[in-house]
Amino acid sequence: MKKDKLEARRQFLRGSAVAAGAAVLGGAIKPALAQQTEFVIDPPATTSMEIFGSNARFPVRRVFCLGRNYRAHAFESGDDPDVNPPFFFIKPRDAVVDSRKPFPYPPMTQELRYEGEMVVALKSGGTNISEADALNHVYGYGVGIDMTREDLQHEAQRLERPWAISKSFDNSAPCGPLYPVETHGHAVSGRIWLSVNGEIKQDSDLDLQRWSVPQGIAILSQYYELTAGDIIMTGTPEGIGLIYKGDVVRVGIDGLGEIEVTVV
Ligand code: MN
Repeated sequence: MKKDKLEARRQFLRGSAVAAGAAVLGGAIKPALAQQTEFVIDPPATTSMEIFGSNARFPVRRVFCLGRNYRAHAFESGDDPDVNPPFFFIKPRDAVVDSRKPFPYPPMTQELRYEGEMVVALKSGGTNISEADALNHVYGYGVGIDMTREDLQHEAQRLERPWAISKSFDNSAPCGPLYPVETHGHAVSGRIWLSVNGEIKQDSDLDLQRWSVPQGIAILSQYYELTAGDIIMTGTPEGIGLIYKGDVVRVGIDGLGEIEVTVV
């Protein structure tokens, strides 16, 4: 009886020791397991944007785009800006490409359209962000082009189908570097222009955005939980048009430099 009790006691202690060991190891085991995660294919590469004046890069999570955010562009798109507010659509993150890389004319279109736009990059996010708080979430601003397969967009509109295929194609968001708020402040007004082969096609001002950057962030955060890494393309002014292989498109915004995209 005494011997059995002793053996039970030993087993209890051994069990405790194992449990204690596991507990101690618990913290160390988790990261080790994470490192050992095997993927059946290579995980997707991180898409990132250049930062002006820095070797560090901004990792992109999602690309939100504002549609018809300038009155005159809403009118030229056959919309009534006094009836219909701007709206959002999305591009995949890897649509964001360096504007200095030659831009490959996309497949399945005969009508490639440029849209010069300001890009806003978020360093933090949340839901139901107030307009007053919205700019506190901005990391920086840049210049980009919302490339569009216009013929596919018109077909989608005619058939009342989604726009995705006309907007969300590979390489469809060539962008320049981001200008951090910390060093360059907020871009709330200033000239935005676009030229094709040296001829000015778009010429407007950020002041004319129907939804300002704070409004856009606040409204978007009602529909999505915004996070660090999300970027917003804030819409294009009037003067949209088509471009072809060999064309050189330049876009500039006061304080955010210029980008040059060559269609190949
Ligand atoms: Mn656009």
